[in-house]
Amino acid sequence: MKSLHKLLDWITLHNVKDDLVIAQFRELTRQIPVMYFLLIANSWAVTYSHLDVAPHAENLYIAIGLTVVSLARVFYWRLNRNLECTPAMAASKLRQVLIIALALGLFHVTWALNLDQYGNDLQRSQVAIFIAITVIGCTFCLAHLPQAGVIVTAVVMVPYLIHYLYQDEMVFTAMAFNIAAVCLAMQRVFLNMFSEFKKLLESREVLAEKQAETELLSLENRKLAHTCPLTGIPNRRFFFQQVAQSLGKNRSFAIGLLDLDNFKPVNDTYGHKVGDQLLIEIGRRLAELESENFTAARLGGDEFGFIYTGYVTDREAIRSLGQSLCDKLSKSCQLGETKVSIGCSCGIVISDPKEDQRHALYDRADLALYESKSQRRGMVTIYSEDLGQKKRHEEEIEAALHSANLDEELEVSYQPIVNLQNDSIVGYEALARWTNPTLGSISPDIFISLAERAGLIRHMTITLFRKALKGHSVLGADLCMSFNLSAHDVTSKETILELIAICHANHVRPEFITFELTETAVIDSLENAEENLRMLRACGFKIALDDFGTGYSSLAYLHRLPIDKVKVDRSFISNLHNRDTRDIVKSIIALCYSMSLDCIIEGVENRDQIYMLAGMGGQNFQGYAIAKPMFVEEAVNWAETASWKDLIPGTAEPAMLQA
Ligand code: C2E
Ligand code: CA
Ligand code: CA
Repeated sequence: MKSLHKLLDWITLHNVKDDLVIAQFRELTRQIPVMYFLLIANSWAVTYSHLDVAPHAENLYIAIGLTVVSLARVFYWRLNRNLECTPAMAASKLRQVLIIALALGLFHVTWALNLDQYGNDLQRSQVAIFIAITVIGCTFCLAHLPQAGVIVTAVVMVPYLIHYLYQDEMVFTAMAFNIAAVCLAMQRVFLNMFSEFKKLLESREVLAEKQAETELLSLENRKLAHTCPLTGIPNRRFFFQQVAQSLGKNRSFAIGLLDLDNFKPVNDTYGHKVGDQLLIEIGRRLAELESENFTAARLGGDEFGFIYTGYVTDREAIRSLGQSLCDKLSKSCQLGETKVSIGCSCGIVISDPKEDQRHALYDRADLALYESKSQRRGMVTIYSEDLGQKKRHEEEIEAALHSANLDEELEVSYQPIVNLQNDSIVGYEALARWTNPTLGSISPDIFISLAERAGLIRHMTITLFRKALKGHSVLGADLCMSFNLSAHDVTSKETILELIAICHANHVRPEFITFELTETAVIDSLENAEENLRMLRACGFKIALDDFGTGYSSLAYLHRLPIDKVKVDRSFISNLHNRDTRDIVKSIIALCYSMSLDCIIEGVENRDQIYMLAGMGGQNFQGYAIAKPMFVEEAVNWAETASWKDLIPGTAEPAMLQA
């Protein structure tokens, strides 16, 4: 009973898996039309041979009718060829096939056995063959629906066998049994084949599942490979891929580089944990801006980048985008107990679809960033041809530096520092001068940083120091000489030891030598710098913090480093008409006083400034108002004329005060 149920379920296509039923339907749409052509061909073969012996109503007309029906079915299946059907639809169509198979099987066998009464033995054998090959052919074509094959075989073979069993001719009976045996064997083979087909389908399913899993995994891997694990925003690799993709689109876009100013000191002072938290916070702020046109990435360390694919023809709009990013990232962050302030500088390049290559673009943005960092911290620079020109000029200078005879080409000029309260020359600041035979005179602002980058600074500093000491002995060994140290000098123990040795060899008293350094010179390697400065201090040298007030944490350095003097940056002096600036300068002077530090006000250019600064308590001045930097002989003459004494407050009425 149970197996009967099972058989019924099987025959009626119950509980067939969705994938299987769809696959069966798809296979049949290709094979059933073939089956109908086979039926037409077989029918006409038997019709033709019985044309003269059987009445048309039982032969020719039936063949015509069958042909029409078959062609209609071919047409129907052709229409179904590209049909996207659901499993339920497919199952219903397969059930239709079973019913039609039953009907056609019965019809064909009845027709064939009826024809068997007409004709001679030869024609009768053809009928037997017709039945046999039709059943075999149909079973072949219905291989993907074995139920149909079984139905056809059953409805044809049973009457066929019964019919031939009652024939007096033994040959036909033998043929019938032979054909029935072949058909049965074939059914078995087809059932086996079908179960292989099912297995294949199942394994394909498993394979597809595995493939989907692998794809998901590789998608995740790809995402991981493109994400910065610390901040969770895209990484350098992704950034460059996006740049390459955007270049392929043949339209302008902008890439920007963002560099955090003051990140290293935060990391050094508060530790890596706080440093990491700060980077995470920066990543979060950038991720907030993510949009269709804006993608930000962490390129490494404290450097971030972005790609903007929106409207880029308006340079000012791009500049304000960059500036708003700088401002957003510069907002102080509360990291646990610690509140940290950082700055952010930005360099942007706008691509030119006609020429730009991925790395050239990046280099240009980097150049713009470098410009911001060195000239205008906290601001945005958009790459322009002028900047490119400047870069080429710098490369020329760098090449000249490598081949220059620095001992001959370098000179030192001296700018006086005077105390207007006690009316004396305090000393001179030694300033480097380089005149190259082909490039002419080059500003120390340019060649010092280039020499640092080119690894030539040590030799340069030592050469300059030897020369400066010579001038110092002429100008007055009991006057103070200030000498500037670059970032590399301050952090290099060898350089510091050599400077000490040179002083010693020249019998110069260390208390008359002041080494000037800027905040940016010590920022990257504070511990080394501190150790070296303490060594200089221990030998009796004086240390001055140059360009005071322009950095982020000048005050912090005042406390941490062994400083004797402070030089108020000249940017404040040119801005004295501003009340806030005046307040800042006043506080710096007061601070120096309370910390017992010498305060030197740099860059005084006129009498009005001196009067105002003297009114705030300023005593030591350096600037064009007193004298420009001069070579030794000129400086000696200048000291003799003492014309600067006219500037001493009280000797004339200052215009600004009058106003
Ligand atoms: P600094 O140490 O701040 O030197 C002062 C600069 O301000 C000098 O420029 C000086 O000529 C200029 N200056 C002085 N008074 C005035 C003024 O009243 N108005 C204006 N507008 N400028 C004034 P200079 O000689 O071009 O040097 C530029 C920078 O190059 C120096 O800035 C210093 O950072 C660096 N430098 C110069 N010589 C050396 C050196 O021997 N070694 C190192 N490492 N750096 C040096
Ligand atoms: Ca200086
Ligand atoms: Ca300075």
